[in-house]
Amino acid sequence: AERAAAKEWNGVGETADGKPVKVIANVGSGADARAAVAAGAQGVGLFRTEFCYLGASEEPAVETQRSAYHEVIAPFAGKPVIVRTLDAGADKPLAFLDMGVEPNPALGVRGLRVAFDRPDVLERQLEAIAAAAADSGAEVSVMAPMVATVDEAAWFAARVRAAGLARAGVMIEIPAAALSAAEILGAVDFVSIGTNDLAQYVFAADRQAGALAELNDPWQPALLRLIAMIGRAGRELDKPVGVCGEAASDPLLAGVFAGLGVTSLSMAAAAVPAVGAALAEHPLAAFEQAAEAALAAATPARAREAVRTVLA
Ligand code: PEP
Ligand code: MG
Repeated sequence: AERAAAKEWNGVGETADGKPVKVIANVGSGADARAAVAAGAQGVGLFRTEFCYLGASEEPAVETQRSAYHEVIAPFAGKPVIVRTLDAGADKPLAFLDMGVEPNPALGVRGLRVAFDRPDVLERQLEAIAAAAADSGAEVSVMAPMVATVDEAAWFAARVRAAGLARAGVMIEIPAAALSAAEILGAVDFVSIGTNDLAQYVFAADRQAGALAELNDPWQPALLRLIAMIGRAGRELDKPVGVCGEAASDPLLAGVFAGLGVTSLSMAAAAVPAVGAALAEHPLAAFEQAAEAALAAATPARAREAVRTVLA
């Protein structure tokens, strides 16, 4: 990270040999969006729309949603913005969606699963996103959280297109979806890997349990091997594969992701300059070599060490 910071971020995400890897931001509010623009983010890879709903005792009206979304989207005129539909569940309960008490909220009705029971809530959200996108000048895409199967991905994409939105994608954060990446990419326009949840489900380790942080380390080779599968599917189908979990903000890991076929990295605004600078330090072929070394490692520590050696 220190070496990366030494080089200036010029606002264009690409490797040293000019292969594009978009450096974009995770945002949850208008203030976040403005900070991301100031940091030089090339767009938004994850707009968490939950903020608009949390604490609301009733579902916000379409116009209320539209104006909240517009505040986030508008600063990115001419740039890509990926809006994620509501990611709620028993762990993030909403007063107007009686989801009941679940013994295992992380394995319960959360994310897109809520929309299977309440498609009307999704439809109103898509209507508000389409209205916010219409006069924003941004290239707005919509993606769903917590998708497990290709049928779910296709169900979502059909609703997004019916709402008049051009681009539909899904998050890959459930291992079953990672194992079906090629089929899922066939049904949508792009995918984005949520490494926070994907690690949690791959390692059966609660992402909020500090005692299990070593299992949730994104350098775990088992996690990297799944990401490699998704990257390969993206290259074969020539469709974008993003990473929008915390892992994308690690400048050393960013190059590994690029080497695995990831085409955009989305992170907190503060991490944008260091990741952008790290990508510019090596050609894609070097990152591919680094990725091979990480995949072959037995532990996270050895994966880090192997990548440092390749890129030294
Ligand atoms: C993820 O799971 O990696 C992700 C980006 O989504 P969230 O952190 O909002 O669950
Ligand atoms: Mg998630």
